[in-house]
Amino acid sequence: MKSFACGDVVPGCEAVWVCSTEDEILASLAGHAGSAHGIHDVSAEMVKTVQEAITTVS
Ligand SMILES: [Zn+2]
Repeated sequence: MKSFACGDVVPGCEAVWVCSTEDEILASLAGHAGSAHGIHDVSAEMVKTVQEAITTVS
């Protein structure tokens, strides 16, 4: 399983995802970024930052 805490990238955000794949997290995050943070265009650089913050959990 993969886990991502939005707070690792956006200080103060408490959203956390645990999904079976990194792609699922990125898909969920796209909606969250728009609704919670007003980010409607997730840049490649942002995706890279998120990927680096994703941790593997068992
Ligand atoms: Zn967030």
